[in-house]
Amino acid sequence: MNKNDCIFCRIARKEIPAKIVFEDDKILAFEDIKPQAPEHILLVPKYHIEKISDLTESNIHMIGDLVLAANKIARDRGVEDSGYRIVLNCNKGAGQEVFHLHLHLLGGRKFSWPPG
Ligand code: 5GP
Ligand code: ZN
Repeated sequence: MNKNDCIFCRIARKEIPAKIVFEDDKILAFEDIKPQAPEHILLVPKYHIEKISDLTESNIHMIGDLVLAANKIARDRGVEDSGYRIVLNCNKGAGQEVFHLHLHLLGGRKFSWPPG
């Protein structure tokens, strides 16, 4: 999948609509189209990278940027105290369906542990 066809690149370029909740020069955050919790936000880097295992020392800092943005969104949307979960799926076996790295922010309900 290249960045021309990638669905999250297309959302980041505003070619297809999404309910955007946060944006800065590096990150876009938007509501998941099929939410798994009352709050289910996807956070993506604005440049195309397929998955967590492709990260290197040169771009690993991007994960920190995504987590800081997720923390802010969790606060703003009122799920900080009740609890929230951050999920990064890597590859199909772990549930990755969209091959543009994304962080799931889930909140607003109880979550089981260990995950299924
Ligand atoms: P994955 O399974 O790859 O970790 O997560 C992909 C997520 O992207 C899923 O939760 C799915 O509902 C969401 N998703 C897939 N296509 C779209 C879309 O076009 N718009 C939005 N907002 N979310 C999408
Ligand atoms: Zn992409």
